[in-house]
Amino acid sequence: MGGKLTSKYKGQCQFCGSEWKVGVDILYQKNPKAICSEEACYKEQGGTISEYKPFSKPSGGFTTSGGSFNQSDPTLKMDLPDVEVPDGIKIAAETVLQSFVTAHHMAKSLYPSMDENTHTFSMIRSNLVDKILTVCALSKE
Ligand SMILES: [Zn+2]
Repeated sequence: MGGKLTSKYKGQCQFCGSEWKVGVDILYQKNPKAICSEEACYKEQGGTISEYKPFSKPSGGFTTSGGSFNQSDPTLKMDLPDVEVPDGIKIAAETVLQSFVTAHHMAKSLYPSMDENTHTFSMIRSNLVDKILTVCALSKE
């Protein structure tokens, strides 16, 4: 796991030869070792930047992005409680699903060029679901 840090010593990259002074941002990774002030060179050395994913584990080697984002998600085991589900809840769930479908189409028409399998898209969509349900609740009063 590596990332940006402020250099405590001045140094020079043994790969590309770029130098850095004390107190500047450099990229550093312990294992496998990679260090450089240039991001491109750092990545060339096998360095990864994990500052946005503090809980991820190094996947070892070169993993180019392509849907492998969730591979470090911890697996959670959950036992569903054995309870009777009343019709009211089922109707509510149906309403949520209808809102979801509506929100999906809304998000698509709002952002036609956005990939619908992205995290951003699903965030926008779930935001719209909340708004639709809120408006539904308000208009029933
Ligand atoms: Zn370098």
